[in-house]
Amino acid sequence: MPYSCVAYGCANRASPEQSTQFFRFPHSNEELMKKWIEAIKRKHFKLSQYSRICSDHFTNDDFQILPNANRLLLRLDTTVTDIHECWSLRPT
Ligand SMILES: [Zn+2]
Repeated sequence: MPYSCVAYGCANRASPEQSTQFFRFPHSNEELMKKWIEAIKRKHFKLSQYSRICSDHFTNDDFQILPNANRLLLRLDTTVTDIHECWSLRPT
C-alpha cells in the first residue's frame, strides 16, 4: 500500500525514487497524537491505520541517529513541526 502524507497541502507520496519517509501516528500516546493531529491543520480529519506524515514535517533533531540504520527513526517524544513553516522552505 503506497502511502501519501496527510498533512494539509502536502503532496508527498511514497515512491521508490523518493527519499522521503513516512511515519505512523503515535497511536499509543494520546497526548502526542492530539498534537500531531493539530499540527496537520486539517478539518474533519479522520485518522486511519494508513495515515502517515512524511519526514518533511520534522526537523533533524526529531530523529534518532542509529549507527548502521538505513532509515530514520523518530524520537518517542517528537512533535510535528509547524507545517506552514515547512512549506515556506520549499520552492514553489
Ligand atoms: Zn508531508
